[in-house]
Amino acid sequence: MKKHIIGNWKMNGMQSHLTEIQKIDEIAALFDNIMTGLCVPATLIYSAHKDKKAVIIGAQDCHQSKEGAHTGCLSAAMVKEAGAKMVILGHSERRQDQGENSRLVSQKADAAIDNNITPIICVGESLAQRESGQAEKIVSEQLLASLPSNKPQKMIIAYEPIWAIGTGKIPQMEEVREIHEVIFRLLTQKYGDAANDYPILYGGSMNGENASELLKLAHVDGGLVGGASLTADKFAPILKAA
Ligand code: PGA
Repeated sequence: MKKHIIGNWKMNGMQSHLTEIQKIDEIAALFDNIMTGLCVPATLIYSAHKDKKAVIIGAQDCHQSKEGAHTGCLSAAMVKEAGAKMVILGHSERRQDQGENSRLVSQKADAAIDNNITPIICVGESLAQRESGQAEKIVSEQLLASLPSNKPQKMIIAYEPIWAIGTGKIPQMEEVREIHEVIFRLLTQKYGDAANDYPILYGGSMNGENASELLKLAHVDGGLVGGASLTADKFAPILKAA
């Protein structure tokens, strides 16, 4: 499987940052062994996806319904029409800020799949859960409850320990390896051989320095990168490491 390196721009990025996306696209074109993606704010999807050589543009959320009375929300068909090929779902920031639960994430994954967009389903434990030895249990429960109703053709899972996001801290390599193995095992139990087609990304303070060690671990098929994806200068070393 190709390594998947996907940037998550979160609530960052104005039209003036499109030149940075252009630079990232040019660098991504040098690495045709890697699937490079950028999940940008909805306001940038359309302009960001136009005329790109290599980088795949994604969204950061979509609504679970097709259409209707949902002020301020965007359907999967809308972000697809704007140019998104994938969508981050159930990021811990949305689980916290918007109170999203795994059942909702699963419904959103169904909506994404119905519209031919690849869902990137995020799971991860808090520091308290990690310290009380519950990481594996929490991640397993979240994962199983967040999966779409049917076996998807394409799907990406991102393991993001909440305490590693934006903090500069990452788990021990062995801890990452263990969780990725658990995720792969659960996907195999549920989907059989198709599990080999679903990349499992690590996310949380990935950068040019730690990427190569993380990306060497078994079942770490790529990274979901926040802060270090905002500029070509910081993102390029991660692509090189992959
Ligand atoms: P970070 O964010 O790389 O800035 O830690 C990762 C994410 O939240 O997806």
